[in-house]
Amino acid sequence: MKTVWSYCRPYKISAAIALFFMIAELVVELVQPLLMAKIINNGIMVKNLEVVAIWGGIILALSLLGFLSGIMNTYYASHVSQSFGADIRKNVFEKVQSFSYAQFSLFAAGSLMTRLTNDVQQLQNTMFMGLRIMARAPLLIFGGLIMAFIVHPSLAVYLAVVVPCLFLFLVFFMGKGGRMFKVVQEKLDEVNNVMGENLAGMKLIRAFLRKSHEVSRFEDASEQLRKKTASVLQFMEISMPALLFLMNAATICILWFGNQEITVGTANVGEVVAVVNYATRITGSLSVLSFIIMAFSRSRASAARLNEVLNAPEEMEDHEDTFKIEAMRGDICFENVSFRYVGQSFSALDHVSFSLKAGCTMAILGSTGSGKSTLVNMIPRLYDPSEGRITIDGIDLREYDQRMLRRQIGLVPQEPLLFTGSVVENIRWGKRNASKEEVVKACKDAQIYETVMKLPQQMDTKIGQKGVNLSGGQRQRLSIARALVRKPRILLFDDSTSALDVKTEMELLQALKAYRGTKLIVTQKISTAIHADLIMLLQDGKKAAIGTHQELMESSALYREIIQSQGGERRSVYVEKANK
Ligand code: ADP
Ligand code: MG
Repeated sequence: MKTVWSYCRPYKISAAIALFFMIAELVVELVQPLLMAKIINNGIMVKNLEVVAIWGGIILALSLLGFLSGIMNTYYASHVSQSFGADIRKNVFEKVQSFSYAQFSLFAAGSLMTRLTNDVQQLQNTMFMGLRIMARAPLLIFGGLIMAFIVHPSLAVYLAVVVPCLFLFLVFFMGKGGRMFKVVQEKLDEVNNVMGENLAGMKLIRAFLRKSHEVSRFEDASEQLRKKTASVLQFMEISMPALLFLMNAATICILWFGNQEITVGTANVGEVVAVVNYATRITGSLSVLSFIIMAFSRSRASAARLNEVLNAPEEMEDHEDTFKIEAMRGDICFENVSFRYVGQSFSALDHVSFSLKAGCTMAILGSTGSGKSTLVNMIPRLYDPSEGRITIDGIDLREYDQRMLRRQIGLVPQEPLLFTGSVVENIRWGKRNASKEEVVKACKDAQIYETVMKLPQQMDTKIGQKGVNLSGGQRQRLSIARALVRKPRILLFDDSTSALDVKTEMELLQALKAYRGTKLIVTQKISTAIHADLIMLLQDGKKAAIGTHQELMESSALYREIIQSQGGERRSVYVEKANK
C-alpha cells in the first residue's frame, strides 16, 4: 500500500539540507543564553568592557549565522513541501481519471475536490512546518532543559518538573483536537458538495423557484462548518492559558529561589538570567509544539482521506495478455448478464441474453428504470457484469485492452454533455485528428450541419459551459456527430433521439444506414424501433421479449400494448412510410 507520505521520497536530499540548517539555527539559539551569562558575569558585573565587546561580537556573528541558516532552511523547506504537494495532487488526479465509472460514483465530486485542494494544502503546510520547526520545538525544549541544568542544576529543577507534565498534557489535548478536525474536513466536503450541485443545476433551480431553498441548504452546511471549526479552535485555545500559567509559575519560582541563592552566594546573576532565558524559550517552543501536534493530527486526517483515493482498488485493471485488436467485426453477445449497482437491493439487469450480428441494428425498448442505460453503458465497460459475460466477436470484454475496445465504440450518452470549446473542438473530441471533411460529414449525418452553419462563427462558434446556448435537441445531435466522427464498429445511442422531431429523426436513421457498425439504439418510440433488425423489450431489468417487429406483433402482448399506447401499428408504419 502506497501512502501519501511516500511522495516525499524524491526530495530526501533537499529535506536533509533543510534539516541541517534547522539544526544549525537551533544550536545558535541554544548557546546564546550561555554566552549572555558569560557577558553578564565576566563583563557587566565586573565592568570589563573588553569581555562585553568580544562576546557581544561573537553573539552578533552567531545571530547572523542563525539568520542565514533560517533563510536557507525556509528555501529548502518550501521547495520540498510545494513539490511534495504538487506530486500528490497530480497522482490523486490521475488516479481519479483511472477510476472505473462505478468507482467514481462512490466518491462525491465535492469530496474529491476538497481532497485535491484543501487536504493536499494541509499536508503541504505540515510538511513545511515539519522541516522548518518540527524538530526545532522538541529539541529546543529538550536542549533548553539540558542547558539550564548545565548552567544551574538546582534552579533547573523547577523546569524539569513542569515541562514534562505540560508536554504530556499537550500531546493528549492536541491529539483530541486533531480528531475533531476530521469532522471539520467532512463538513467542508458538504459545503463543496452543495455548491457543486448548485452550480451544475442552476437552470433547474431557477425554473423551480428553489433559490431560497438552495440558499438555506448552503447556509445550513456553511453554518455547520462554522460551528465545528469554531468549537475545535475554542477547544484548542484552552491549552494556551494553561500552558502560560504553569510556565510563568515555574519562572517565578526560578526568580524567587534564584534571588535567595544569589544572596547566599550559591548562584550569580548571569546564571539566573540564563535559566530564566531558557524558561522563556521553552515556553515559546511549547506553544509552537502545540501547533505542530495539532497540524500533525489534522494532516493525519487529510492523509487518510487522500490515501483512500490513492489506494482505491483498480477493479478494471487490464490483464497482462489483453487482446490488442486493431479492428473488430462487431458481433455483440450478452450471456446471462446481471448487474447490481453498489448499495442497491435489486438488480438493474437480470440474466439478460441476446446476440446481435455485426452490422445489424437492435432497438431496445422499455420504460424508465428498466435498465436500458445500464445495458448500453456496459458495452464500453463503464460497468462490468456482476454475473454472466459480454462478448464481442466471441471474446469476453474483460479480455480486451480497454483503450482498444473503447476506440471501436461510439457512445451517445443519455445526457448529452458538451465541453467548453468550439463546435469543431467538441466533435474532434470523438476523434482527435479528424479532418475537416470528416467533421462536416459527421455533422451532416447527425442532421446538425445546417444548424451549425447558422451559428455566428459556424464550426468555430464557442459553446458555453455545458453548451448552454444550444437547445437540447441540438446538443443531442452534436454529441451524435461526436460519436459518428469516430466511424465506430459499435454505435450506442442511449435515448439520443428523444428530443428530435419525427422528420429529423427519420433522416438521421436513414443516414445511419451508411455506417457499417453494429448499432444499439435505446428508444421510447415504436416508430424508431420498427426499423431495427431486432427489437428487445426490457422490463425491470429482464428481457421481456426479443424479435423482429413482425415476430413481436405475433408473440408479445406487451409489445402490442406499447404499439397501441403510441397510436397503433398503422400510425407507426405510416410514419415509417411517410419518411421513406
Ligand atoms: P433506464 O435507462 O431504462 O431508464 P437505468 O439503466 O438508468 O434505466 O436504470 C436501471 C435501474 O438501475 C433503475 O432502477 C435505477 O434506479 C438504477 N440505477 C441507475 N443508475 C444507478 C446508479 N448510478 N446507482 C444506483 N442505481 C442506479
Ligand atoms: Mg436511461
